[in-house]
Amino acid sequence: ETTLVWLRNDLRISDNPALADALKHDRPVHALYVLENDRGLRPMGAAAKAWLHQSLNVLSHALAERGVRLHYQEGESGSLLPRFAKEINASAIYWNRRYDPAGRTHDKTLKASLRENGHVVESFNASLLVEPWDIATQSGTPYGVFTPFWKTLRDKAIPDPIGRIEKHEKITSPKLDMPKAPFWSDGIFDAWTPGEDSAKSALAAFLEDALSDYPQGRDVPSRDVTSRLSPYLRHGEIGPRQVWFATRHLIDANPSRTSAGEKFLSELAWREFSYHLLFHRPDISQHPMQERFADIDWRTDTKALHAWQKGQTGIPIVDAGMRQLWTTGWMHNRVRMLTASLISKNLLLDWRKGEQWFWDTLVDADPANNPASWQWVAGCGADAAPYFRIFNPVTQGEKFDPNGDYVRQWVPELSDLPDKWVHKPADAPGSVLAQSGVELGKTYPKPIVDLKTSRTRALEALAR
Ligand code: FAD
Repeated sequence: ETTLVWLRNDLRISDNPALADALKHDRPVHALYVLENDRGLRPMGAAAKAWLHQSLNVLSHALAERGVRLHYQEGESGSLLPRFAKEINASAIYWNRRYDPAGRTHDKTLKASLRENGHVVESFNASLLVEPWDIATQSGTPYGVFTPFWKTLRDKAIPDPIGRIEKHEKITSPKLDMPKAPFWSDGIFDAWTPGEDSAKSALAAFLEDALSDYPQGRDVPSRDVTSRLSPYLRHGEIGPRQVWFATRHLIDANPSRTSAGEKFLSELAWREFSYHLLFHRPDISQHPMQERFADIDWRTDTKALHAWQKGQTGIPIVDAGMRQLWTTGWMHNRVRMLTASLISKNLLLDWRKGEQWFWDTLVDADPANNPASWQWVAGCGADAAPYFRIFNPVTQGEKFDPNGDYVRQWVPELSDLPDKWVHKPADAPGSVLAQSGVELGKTYPKPIVDLKTSRTRALEALAR
C-alpha cells in the first residue's frame, strides 16, 4: 500500500501540510501533478505553464531526496487521479485545497467518489493565511471591503508554518515526461529562477535589503524594492504563512521596521482578500462583482487590442509595461494599474480581454489576484476604484517615473528624449524629436487614443 499526494498550487517541500501528513505514515509516498483539462476548470495560461515545467523539475529532485517519486500527467484529473491511485495501490490520498468555485466543486465530487471506493482522502490549507470560511463580518457575511477585512485578518491566530520535513530514504530522481518549455520563454528565465530555494532567497533578500524602502519605493517601477514573490506564491513554491512569519519575526527583532513590515503584510493581505472574493462569488474572471456593470457597451477594436498587447500604443509608460510583461512574464504593480486602466477605460475594451492577456502572459497569473485586480481597476469589483477615477498615464508616468528610467529601459527608441518629453513624445517640439532620433509614426507610434476625449467617452459609457 502507498500514499498519494496530489500536488497543485503547492510546489514545495516545506510548510506543505498534505506532504507532511503523507510522510508521517510508514508507507511509500508518490506525488502526482496533473496538468488538468477537465471541463469547467480554467486552463493554465502559457507563461504560468512554462514556469510550472521548470518548477516541477526542481521539485522532483527535492522530493526524490525525501524518498518521494513525482509523476506528471496531462488530462482530466477526474479520471486520471482515481486510475493512478489504483495503479500504485494508494490507500490514502492527500491534497492541499484550492478555492475557486469550479475547482472546489470538482474536488468535492472527486473526494466523495474516491472515498466511496475505499480510499482515505484528506485535504489541507497550504495557500492561505486563514480559510475563507473562517473570516466573516460581525453579521456573518463575507467581506466586500478591504480595510475591515484586513483589520480582522491581522488579529486572527495564523497557524505557524510546518517545520522542515525529516529526510527519508533517498530515491533516484525520475525523468518527468513533460513538453519542452516553449521557445519564447527564454526571456522569462533570464529574469527568474523557479523553485522553492529561489523563493526563500527572494524573501530573505527582500526583508534584508528592500523592506525599509518598500512603503515609499513600491510605486516606482524602475526601483527593485518589491519582493517579486508573486510567481512563487502563485505556484506555491512559498506559502503565505512562511512570508507572514518571516516578516513578523523581523519586525519583532527590529521594531524600527514595524511600519514597513506592516505595509508589506497588508499587501499580502490583498492576496487573501482576492481569495476571499474568489471563494464567495461565482466566476470572477467572467462576471462583474457589481451587477450594475454587467451590461456595458464595450467597443470592439482588434487593432487597438493588438497595439496594447504588443506595447505599441504610443503611450510610453503603458508600452514599457506591456513590453516588460511580454519579455519577463511580470509587470510592476503600478504599471499593471495603468495598462489595465488604458484598455478598460480609455480604449473602452472589455476588461475580460485584458484579464485574459495577463492570464496568458504573467508568470504569476493567479486565479484570484488577476480577475479581482482587473475588476478593481475597471471599477466593477468589490471595493473597487470608482468607475470615474481614470488614470492619466502621462501624469502618472511623470509622477512615478520622473526621470523616465523605466520607460527608457523598455522603450529604448525613446531613450534620447529629454526627461520633460519622455512620457509625452507626441507633445514634444519637432526639433527635440529630430535631435532625439524619434520619428513619430515611424520609430515610435503616435498615441492610438486621445486621453482627453477618451476619458469623456469612458465616463459616459460607464456611468451607472
Ligand atoms: P509585493 O509588493 O512584494 O507584494 C507581496 C505579495 O503580496 C505579492 O506577491 C502578492 O501575492 C501580494 N500582493 C501585492 N499587491 C497585491 C495586490 N494589489 N493585489 C493582490 N495581491 C497583492 N498579482 C498576482 O499575484 N497575480 C496576478 O495575476 C495579478 N494580476 C494583476 C492584474 C492587475 C490589473 C493588477 C493591477 C494587479 C495584479 N496583481 C496580480 C497584483 C500585483 O500587481 C502583484 O501581486 C505584484 O505586482 C507582484 O509583485 P511583488 O510580488 O513584487 O509584490
